[in-house]
Amino acid sequence: MVSHLAAQIELCKFCDSTNLIKQTGDAEPTSHYGHLTCGDCKKFITWLQDPALTEVFEVRQGMIRDLLKRSGSLNQCEAPFLRNILNQRYLTPKQQDWLDKIFMRVLGRVSPRQPAAKQNPPTQRVAGQFGLP
Ligand SMILES: [Zn+2]
Repeated sequence: MVSHLAAQIELCKFCDSTNLIKQTGDAEPTSHYGHLTCGDCKKFITWLQDPALTEVFEVRQGMIRDLLKRSGSLNQCEAPFLRNILNQRYLTPKQQDWLDKIFMRVLGRVSPRQPAAKQNPPTQRVAGQFGLP
């Protein structure tokens, strides 16, 4: 998806253009959610973060803070683990599993599911191979 952002969001820091282009989804060639480029000077401005991931992250962070207040319910490995992942936006499946076990035991519920990590698309497509012109 390529869309033009409303002018109030940002100016290009290089040329002050308001013609910023947001690339996400299939238009985003990296493993990031998306990025912002200037439509005039074509320079990279910033990475974009997945809003769905941000929401999950904030709920999870609140739940982890809850756990850390109940340090009597945590063992000596769990408390450092929780502090370690508190500000981590994306958890590995292993971290998520461990966290859910602690959540279930102490709070009786698990954290919301984070959206699946984006897979790196093939780096190059040979013209014609996928029916492209
Ligand atoms: Zn620019």
